[in-house]
Amino acid sequence: MNQSDSERIRSVIEGMGFEMTEIEEDASLIGVVACSVRQKAIDKVYSKIQKWNQWKNEKPLITFVSGCILPADEVKFIKLFDLVFRMNELLELPDMLHQSGVASEFSTRHPLNDIEREDERTDFWQVEPTYSSDFEAFVPIQNGCDKFCSYCAVPFTRGREVSRASADILAEVERLIENDVKAITLLGQNVNSYGLDKKGEELSFAALLRAVGEIGSKSGKELWVYFTSPHPRDMTRDVIEAIADYKCLAKQIHLPVQSGDEKLLRRMNRNYSIEDYLKIVDDIRELLPTATIFTDIIVGFSGETDEQLERSAELMEQVKFNMAYVAKYSPRAGARASRWEDDITPQQKSERLAKLSEVLKRTSLAHNEAMVGKTFRVLVERADKRMEGALASRTEGKLPVRVLDASNDLVGTFQDVEITSASALSLAGKLAGA
Ligand code: SAH
Ligand code: SF4
Repeated sequence: MNQSDSERIRSVIEGMGFEMTEIEEDASLIGVVACSVRQKAIDKVYSKIQKWNQWKNEKPLITFVSGCILPADEVKFIKLFDLVFRMNELLELPDMLHQSGVASEFSTRHPLNDIEREDERTDFWQVEPTYSSDFEAFVPIQNGCDKFCSYCAVPFTRGREVSRASADILAEVERLIENDVKAITLLGQNVNSYGLDKKGEELSFAALLRAVGEIGSKSGKELWVYFTSPHPRDMTRDVIEAIADYKCLAKQIHLPVQSGDEKLLRRMNRNYSIEDYLKIVDDIRELLPTATIFTDIIVGFSGETDEQLERSAELMEQVKFNMAYVAKYSPRAGARASRWEDDITPQQKSERLAKLSEVLKRTSLAHNEAMVGKTFRVLVERADKRMEGALASRTEGKLPVRVLDASNDLVGTFQDVEITSASALSLAGKLAGA
């Protein structure tokens, strides 16, 4: 989401006449799109602004921050940054920069002037993003969250759920496909509650997926469409059926479970049982037999016992996730759980994280080893940073594959790769027929 927001901020700034520099020290205008999900990411924002404010002693510099910001941090950021704005204030950014004085030499005329203002919560999505890649794109479909999981900052930083107009989403998807984009990710904090805020007026999430699937099939082009993050509560069977019906809807599901313990799930206010979650996994295995399943898990949540952690490990053994993003619980001001004791020590959190990582490595290794000797379609993403002459790619299920002895010309293309070796969280192979 932050990358997607940055792509729109960049368009607005460049529309004023600014030019992008890759060298941080050269910038006259610099900003950060913050994430408040965990304290660690916010600490990075504080260290960046300290550095930038020191640079101000040597040269003129305008600083800004946007993205996910908790009210308590916003108060501090207003003192540290020249500009603090919410993403839905993006259309006002040129005016704000002018008012700050430093950007007065830049044009006030701006492509934004042509945008018709309809809904201040969603108008910013009309800004045409400056995509960071010409073969992979993020398309926001909703913003905010109404679920109020007890640990989570999102409802307080991004506000209530709002869905983007499906006509605009489909138009963006169509343009991307025309431009030969190979992978598209539909984005939102709670993507599969898409349309629920505009019931009767908007498509459901399953219907939106089908509409995207139709555009993809009609184009006749090869394409993988993903979405993230869904909530198990809204992961209805019709969503999984839609994915099964369209080749271009990628067979990869990210389904955050957060914990394998019923009582903890209730304390987290997740509103599903382990049985509900496993039923969705069964539906996925039945309707999408080739799909990989990823998850998010929190360890060290307030009051989590060793037994409760053990249940998360057991659930992981049972589902055999291909990937699990395991996070140490980080109290967030405003979220209900921030009033409960953060009673699991940092060391315990690290041990618990290591324990779940071990389970993940074991199940993912068994899955990956069974791929050796078979050929898989991959999308080549870039030159491999750690190995000369190799490429980094991913399967439709988003498993990373190192393609050995292949030329950089293949970046941004689909290829068939024969898997020659497997490790816990990655694979390696050679171009089929090579
Ligand atoms: N909407 C998604 C998650 C969005 S936040 C869902 O419902 O699952 C992304 C991930 O960050 C979450 O899945 C969770 O695992 C993690 N996370 C959120 N708040 C956290 C916190 N306070 N401490 C640690 N991890 C957290
Ligand atoms: Fe946060 Fe996801 Fe829960 Fe919403 S559904 S409160 S984004 S964890």
